[in-house]
Amino acid sequence: CGIVGYIGHRNALPIVVEALKRLEYRGYDSSGCALIHDGELQVYKRAGKIIELERCLPEPNKCTGNIAIAHTRWATHGEPNEVNAHPHLDCKGEIAIVHNGIIENYKLLRDKLIELGHTFVSETDTEVIVHLIEQFLLSETTLEDAVRSAMTKVEGTYGLVVMSLKEPDKLIAVRKGSPLIIGIGENEHFITSDVNAIIIHTKRVIYLQDDELCVVKADGFEITTLDKRSVKPEISVVDWDI
Ligand code: GLU
Repeated sequence: CGIVGYIGHRNALPIVVEALKRLEYRGYDSSGCALIHDGELQVYKRAGKIIELERCLPEPNKCTGNIAIAHTRWATHGEPNEVNAHPHLDCKGEIAIVHNGIIENYKLLRDKLIELGHTFVSETDTEVIVHLIEQFLLSETTLEDAVRSAMTKVEGTYGLVVMSLKEPDKLIAVRKGSPLIIGIGENEHFITSDVNAIIIHTKRVIYLQDDELCVVKADGFEITTLDKRSVKPEISVVDWDI
C-alpha cells in the first residue's frame, strides 16, 4: 500500500517512519521497516497502527543508520499479521524488500524456489520476489542485475524497493503498474509510492515509469529500463504544500 525509502547523510529510520505516517490516510493493516545499523540488517514489523511499530523500535541510538525502507501493507495474499507484514527477507537475512501490488504467478515461483531449497516464512505473494533475487545472486554479481533477472520471471504489478547488507550504499527501485517516485535532495534521496510522504523534504521528484529501474544512492541516481537501456530522467517540481 505505502512505500518509503531513504538514503543519505541523516539518520534514516525516523525519516521513513514519519513519512509513513503521512500515508496513513490511504488505509493499511500493518506496517514495518528495515535499516542497516553497524553492518547489521534490522527489521521491525507490527500488525495494526504505525504507533505499534514505533513502540517496538529500540532506543534511537541503537537504530541509527543512513539507509532505511518502510511499508504500510494492505493485505492481498495472506492474513494481516506481523509475519506477513513487509519488509520481507531472503533466507540469509541480507536482502530486504517492500512491495506494493500483486504477483500473479507467485504459487508457481514459490514451488520452484522451495524445490531449490528456499524456506518461506510468510503467506504473501511478495516473499517470492526476495527469494528470486537471492537465487539470481548465485549467478549474477550485482544486486542490480539480480533484481533485473528476478523481475523477468515475475508476472503482475509491483512498486518495489530492495536493500542489501552486501551493497549498503544503494536502494533499488523498480515499478510496473504501481506508482513509485524518486525524491531528490541534497546528498540524500527518497523513494515513495505517494509524493505526499516526502514533500516536506523535497519537491523535486521523478515519477518512475513502468519497466524502469532506478539505482538510488546518497549522492545520485541512475534510471534504466529493465532491459538495460538508459533513461533520461524527467524532473518535476511539486507545486503544492501539505
Ligand atoms: N500483495 C502484497 C501483500 O499482500 C502487497 C500488498 C500491498 O500492496 O500492500 O503482502
